[in-house]
Amino acid sequence: MDLVQPLTWPEALAARAEQPDLLPIAGGTDVMVDINFGRRRPAGLLDLTRIDEIATWSVEDGIVRIGAGVTYAQVESDLAGLAPGLAMASRTVGSPQIRMRGTVGGNLGAASPAGDSHPPLLAADAVVEVASATRGARQVPAAEFYTGVKRNALEPDELIAAILVPTASGPQQFSKIGTRNAMVIAVTAFAVALHPDRRAVGTGIGSAAPTPRRAPEAEAFLAGELDAAGLWESRGELPDSVARAFGDRVAAAAAPIDDVRGSAAYRRHALSVMGRRAATWAWDEYRRAA
Ligand SMILES: Cc1cc2nc3c(=O)[nH]c(=O)nc-3n(C[C@H](O)[C@H](O)[C@H](O)COP(=O)(O)OP(=O)(O)OC[C@H]3O[C@@H](n4cnc5c(N)ncnc54)[C@H](O)[C@@H]3O)c2cc1C
Repeated sequence: MDLVQPLTWPEALAARAEQPDLLPIAGGTDVMVDINFGRRRPAGLLDLTRIDEIATWSVEDGIVRIGAGVTYAQVESDLAGLAPGLAMASRTVGSPQIRMRGTVGGNLGAASPAGDSHPPLLAADAVVEVASATRGARQVPAAEFYTGVKRNALEPDELIAAILVPTASGPQQFSKIGTRNAMVIAVTAFAVALHPDRRAVGTGIGSAAPTPRRAPEAEAFLAGELDAAGLWESRGELPDSVARAFGDRVAAAAAPIDDVRGSAAYRRHALSVMGRRAATWAWDEYRRAA
């Protein structure tokens, strides 16, 4: 098997364009499992781990730019304040070993409906920056990045360069249900982000549809209720009826299936509970921050 190890981002893009049959590898926590189990037999690997340009994060004009090669461990330790939903989700990924190797870019590359970074990226209105050697960079909103089960919007000559996440203007929450507390693929997951700066609410649903997706009606409902009752200003309590109705709308936005990890009915029920709880946690945090 060929192993190509570029040292710079332009070299990586050139290699991608010249040899699209090479499989990009970052942390390898998906790729190596697939190779070891014989699920993939790529002609070779395009190793992205030596490229400094994609291994760091920075903040500019209210946007956190997270290089595709930034690991979950970095997100946990560095970005809890700027991208709290993503940091919370990162803490639930695999084990410390997986979080030291696994990257957010790799989660997007794999595009599993159960990937834990997707719900908080959707809720935060994140944008995925992808690039090719010939056409340069383009930006794809996270909501348009997931195109099918384990499929994404990348062209064959493109690589993921970075994930652009607006810095949090309010509380964010992530909730994941699995059969145990660690080392578990989500049965279903949910993220919510409050955006008090523009009086909006963001959501992301994981593992309950062919792709990660938002719950737009739930978002509009909660933002509308908060507005109508003047709660953004008063920071009054979130009525339980509103939190429940929000949870119901989150569940209604899902299109789950029965599979080995859980039934569709269980996933829907779990989403209604997670929606209610996550909204209440986030709102209580907003109230405390007054
Ligand atoms: C024991 C174990 C536990 C796990 N637990 C979880 C969990 O709890 N939650 C979860 O979400 N995932 C989990 N995973 C899956 C995996 O760790 C994540 O999907 C991780 O984010 C993959 O990142 P990576 O850097 O290792 O990607 P890799 O395995 O290197 O790559 C994954 C995919 O992305 C592509 N890719 C990587 N980087 C780029 C790039 N820059 N541009 C284009 N394509 C790229 C690769 O070609 C490949 O298709 C687990 C895996 C294991 C082995």
